[in-house]
Amino acid sequence: MVKIERSFPAPASLEIEARKKSGGSYSEPDVVRQLKEDFHNKCYICEIKDLQDPEIEHLLPHKNGKYAERMFDWNNLFWACGHCNKVKNQAKYDEGIIDCCRQDPEELISFRLQGANVLVEAKNQDDARAVLTAALVQEVFHLRNTAMRDYKRTMRFQELNREMNILYDNLEEIKKNPESKIVMRKLKALLRKESGFAAFKRNYVRENAGRFPQLLQYIV
Ligand SMILES: [Zn+2]
Repeated sequence: MVKIERSFPAPASLEIEARKKSGGSYSEPDVVRQLKEDFHNKCYICEIKDLQDPEIEHLLPHKNGKYAERMFDWNNLFWACGHCNKVKNQAKYDEGIIDCCRQDPEELISFRLQGANVLVEAKNQDDARAVLTAALVQEVFHLRNTAMRDYKRTMRFQELNREMNILYDNLEEIKKNPESKIVMRKLKALLRKESGFAAFKRNYVRENAGRFPQLLQYIV
């Protein structure tokens, strides 16, 4: 999870749809277009890229219209994959997840891949919001209570591994050829917030900054 710059004004359809007595939609084309762009077509929770079946996720749940104002509130709409949307749809995550458009998750949470484990942890265990958000991200990579969820979390884990291996290869390369502009360009692209699993890659470089001081400019 990385900081997202939500664009304003809110898509015009939201205000129009909110006024409809019943059947208003929060997924009109302007909303879909703007969310996809703002979130770089990446699930804000697991950070998998180029979603084939994206969903609009409500950070604060509207409970089938019980909290109607939340349905059409632009600040409450997020771009997520179906897997993460379902995992988050548990009462324990109803309140208290970090709003990544307002707070920078990278400042509050460490995202690590250690061997075969995804370790997502709050930097400050007293920060309840960071602890809960870390638990959610951790869960989307670990949940295996149904065969489908096990399959989906495995897919994400493999994608994360693939992306991290590309990063490691390029880090090896830059150690061997510190002057290589091509490798530096690749690393810059890999470390952009827009890239897949950016929080994990940026965290790795941040924690190994002593070995790669020239890359710090890309993770601020
Ligand atoms: Zn996801």
